[in-house]
Amino acid sequence: MENNKFVFSVDWEDFSQLSLKYFNGAISSPKQAIDRQTLLILDLLDKHSIKGTFFVLGILAKHKQELLKKIHQKGHEIALHGQYHESLPSISLDKIKADLEESTKIVTDIIGQNIYGYRAPFFSMNKKRLVVLEILASMGFVYDSSIFPSSLSHFGSADLPNKPTILQLKNNLSIIELPLQTQSFFGKKFCIIGGSYLRIAPSFIINKSFEAYYKKGKSAMVYTHPYEFDNQALFMQESYPENAKYSKLKMRLNNLKWNIGRNSSLDKLDAVFSKYQFETALESSKKVQNTSILAYE
Ligand SMILES: [Zn+2]
Repeated sequence: MENNKFVFSVDWEDFSQLSLKYFNGAISSPKQAIDRQTLLILDLLDKHSIKGTFFVLGILAKHKQELLKKIHQKGHEIALHGQYHESLPSISLDKIKADLEESTKIVTDIIGQNIYGYRAPFFSMNKKRLVVLEILASMGFVYDSSIFPSSLSHFGSADLPNKPTILQLKNNLSIIELPLQTQSFFGKKFCIIGGSYLRIAPSFIINKSFEAYYKKGKSAMVYTHPYEFDNQALFMQESYPENAKYSKLKMRLNNLKWNIGRNSSLDKLDAVFSKYQFETALESSKKVQNTSILAYE
C-alpha cells in the first residue's frame, strides 16, 4: 500500500551530555541549550499542526522531566532511544536488555503512558543484533526504527529491510520495522532528509529528495536531533572539565562539522512542512501490510 505521508522524528538527546560522555564516559546534567532547541522544534511543529515522534534518551529524560511532559502534552508521540546511547554491537545482549528496561521505566513513569517505538543509537541495528527485535517485541514494542539499509553507514547493511515491513521473528512474535528509506546518488544509497544532510545540503536538493519520495508513495522518515535546530553555535569543549586535554585542531574540525549549516535547518523544514502531510511513526506503522520472515541467528 502506498503512503504519501512523511514521519518527522527527533532523536531527543543532549549535545553537551553526549559530548562529555564520548570524551571521558561521564554522565552530566544537560545544559540549558536543550530547552531552547526543543522549543524551536515544538514551535515549528505547532505552526504547521504537525505531530512528530520523539525517540527519547533516558539520561536526558531523567534531568528534563518537565520538558518531556511538555512535548507529550502537545500530542507528539513519545518513543524510546534507550538509556546510555551505546551502539548495539558494542554491548552485550544482557546490557542491551537492561538499558531498554531502565529507559522504558524512566520514560513511561514521566509521561504516565506506554510507549510503542524504539530507535537504536546511531541506527546501529545490524545483522548481528537483529535478535534485539525479539527483546523489543516481548517488551511490548510495536515498531522499531533502527535500520539504515546502506553500506554507507558503519552499522548498516544494504540487505536489511529497506521499506516498512512486518517482521516475523523466531519467538513467534512480530515487530514492524520502519527503516530509513534510501535513495541512490552516484551508485550509493543515502537518506538525505535528516541528520547533517539536512543542515549541509542546499534547499533545492532537500526539496527534490522529498518530492522523489512523495512521487513513489513512500512514507519516508525524517530524522533529526535537537542540536540541528539551535540558533546559537555549539562547542563540544564547553561540556568538558576545566583542565581537559584535547587536540585543538581536532576540536576545530569537530565543531565545524556540528555547526555547519545549522541556521538553515528550520527554514528547510518550514518549507517541506508547508508542502507535505505528516503523521507519527506509530500511525505510519499501522498502515504497513508487507510481511517478511526475518532470517537471523
Ligand atoms: Zn542518538
